[in-house]
Amino acid sequence: MSIDEVLRAKDFRVTRARQLVWKVLTRSDTHRSASEILDEVHELDDSINASSVYRALALFSDLDLVRESHLGELSTWETAHEDETIHLVCEKCHTTIHFSTSVVDRLRAEVQRDTSFTPTTIDVQISGHCASCSPTT
Ligand SMILES: [Zn+2]
Ligand SMILES: [Zn+2]
Repeated sequence: MSIDEVLRAKDFRVTRARQLVWKVLTRSDTHRSASEILDEVHELDDSINASSVYRALALFSDLDLVRESHLGELSTWETAHEDETIHLVCEKCHTTIHFSTSVVDRLRAEVQRDTSFTPTTIDVQISGHCASCSPTT
């Protein structure tokens, strides 16, 4: 389904800001801050105002179309993906690598089995150094 169809199916208007934010988000699976998204939207159309871009992000978040991650003090956005895909974040260059692991599924099952708690979101983030930032010894 295109974003137009998704929005219409949920009774939301298709606006140029919403279309462009979605286009930027789906160009690659990298994490972007709200201001990076705004910059990229402006490369496509500089008449879109910032508040429309931020409201589009908030709407996509409400609709579970995007995933927001807090990397350090920065909030980043990307298209929604499963909890099983975790984030490896480089402390030096802030590159975020996606890594799929069955650990998250096992963790969810274990929490459910051992407690009365039902996990909704499991957000695993591992900090470290990426290949290009690893200290060479
Ligand atoms: Zn991610
Ligand atoms: Zn790095």
